[in-house]
Amino acid sequence: MRYISTRGNAPALNFEEAVLTGLAPDGGLYVPETLPQFSREEIAAMAGQPYAEIAFRVMKPFVGGEIDDDTLRGLIDDSYATFKHDAVVPLKQLSHNHWLMELFHGPTLAFKDVALQLLGRLLDHFLKKRGEKGVIMGATSGDTGSAAIEGCRHCDNLDIFILHPYQRVSAVQRRQMTTVLADNVHNIAIEGNFDDAQAIVKTSFADQGFLNGTRLIAVNSINWARIMAQIVYYFASGVALGAPHREVSFTVPSANFGNLFAGYTASRMGLPVKQFVIATNANDILHRTLTDNDFSKRELAATLAPSMDIVVSSNFERLLFDAYDRDGDRVRALLECFQQEPTALADAPLATLREKFGSHRVDDDTILEVIREAFARTGELLDPHTATGYRAAEVARSDDTTPMITLATAHPAKFEDAVVRAGFEGAALPESMSDLMDREERYDVLPANARDVQRFVAEHRVASS
Ligand SMILES: *Cc1c(COP(=O)(O)O)cnc(C)c1O
Repeated sequence: MRYISTRGNAPALNFEEAVLTGLAPDGGLYVPETLPQFSREEIAAMAGQPYAEIAFRVMKPFVGGEIDDDTLRGLIDDSYATFKHDAVVPLKQLSHNHWLMELFHGPTLAFKDVALQLLGRLLDHFLKKRGEKGVIMGATSGDTGSAAIEGCRHCDNLDIFILHPYQRVSAVQRRQMTTVLADNVHNIAIEGNFDDAQAIVKTSFADQGFLNGTRLIAVNSINWARIMAQIVYYFASGVALGAPHREVSFTVPSANFGNLFAGYTASRMGLPVKQFVIATNANDILHRTLTDNDFSKRELAATLAPSMDIVVSSNFERLLFDAYDRDGDRVRALLECFQQEPTALADAPLATLREKFGSHRVDDDTILEVIREAFARTGELLDPHTATGYRAAEVARSDDTTPMITLATAHPAKFEDAVVRAGFEGAALPESMSDLMDREERYDVLPANARDVQRFVAEHRVASS
């Protein structure tokens, strides 16, 4: 399997190189040159299989023989053994044809665990094989950092440095990162905001001299392995509800669009999907693009669904690449223009997208209303991200007979603020985490200055060769 850039101007890579590389040198994102195809029979045969088995069948063609089957199965089994539910991503029925897929049973209670549990293990495997060590650096305002730390805490060949804005993440989110006391896990609280932390990470990737040749690795959602791991649960839930013998639809609380792009990829691989509904909060670039062809940046709004607070949806570029018939030059031109000024999609690609995608924006007041309403109608306490999906599924679905699967992206205990503001007493953390608030924490506070952070990274990494 070869991976090519969405901007058409970077060398093609194999799977291992694509996973280790992240962003393509031309600024594009890697996508498979051709997608594996699953026949109706192969999809039908997934029904009733354990999640890890479906994961193996779906991901194997993307790995393209670069990892032997036994090893790949081992990485998958270990990744999903960390989930606290035997079904890994259980489905719950909400109404006669609306279902919730709970993606939050992993170690940090959000869907990012599904991908990051596997990505950490994949990176460690490839580095070990090469006899190399690696350093992960990332900035987080919440979910990604903790999921990345949990995915890497057992890796021998990796150090992970996660920067979070000092005193600006919730206690639960901070503690999910800072109570992981493994030697190769380093939490840095930056005296600044999230943008300052992200700028330091960007500077460090642009000039990696401070690492003396050790590889710096990004685990953000543009890494192809994250998309790949997320494709699996679209197949798993689809066959559970009758695919390929009937179509299913999905609603996805969206930000960087990695989750939804995985679903779209599943449909391109043969899963019969009637419709995808994009749910956004007030940061609605995806909704504006689809409804008004307004592909432009707006100022960031801080909402009750903070993991969806974005200005740009980075993985949308992968969808545009297909919508523009995989013409990397046109994608590059469009995105360069987008960086400078408000822009719009060409008619034909926009029309293609509108055939398969619906969208809906849910503001903060509505999020609170939906949390109350969903509880009254179903007994389910939704987290604020999932609440956007619940409402979008009802408003924007194209028909009432196709089963709709809304992706529950986080556990309500992780975003207790919104739950309390909706009028509930709160949501209990699951048993495995009930002592989170009493655990020992470890982190360092550093000024918002790239040089200080880089010196800290160079001095503190333990997995050095
Ligand atoms: C990251 C995240 C999202 C957004 O997912 P994307 O793949 O960026 O679209 C939604 N909900 C929660 C809880 C998240 O952590």
